[in-house]
Amino acid sequence: MSGIGNLFKGTETGGSCVIGGSMAKKKLKGHRINRDWCKGCGICVRFCPKGVLELDAADKAAAVRPRECICCRLCELRCPDLAIEVVVEDEDDD
Ligand code: SF4
Ligand code: SF4
Repeated sequence: MSGIGNLFKGTETGGSCVIGGSMAKKKLKGHRINRDWCKGCGICVRFCPKGVLELDAADKAAAVRPRECICCRLCELRCPDLAIEVVVEDEDDD
């Protein structure tokens, strides 16, 4: 959970993503999920094209297959409660 505040449970496993079909490669830092805000509606789970997300035993979104994430941000854009954020960094940044 390094680098992620108390409110968030994030996954730290990385993946490689290409944003918008451009050549700008992004590296996934993790999915920040605000467990206080997540109401377990499952919208993010259903919209994710790669099966990255599931609801956990507490009915909160969790990134169970982060390495499959393509950083499309559909989960972030569709969440009605702003409870999930896809955190990426430019590969050249570090
Ligand atoms: S869409 Fe948002 S509120 Fe619904 S399960 Fe996903 S993170 Fe939680
Ligand atoms: S960014 Fe796209 S691929 Fe990654 S978890 Fe969200 S919906 Fe799934």
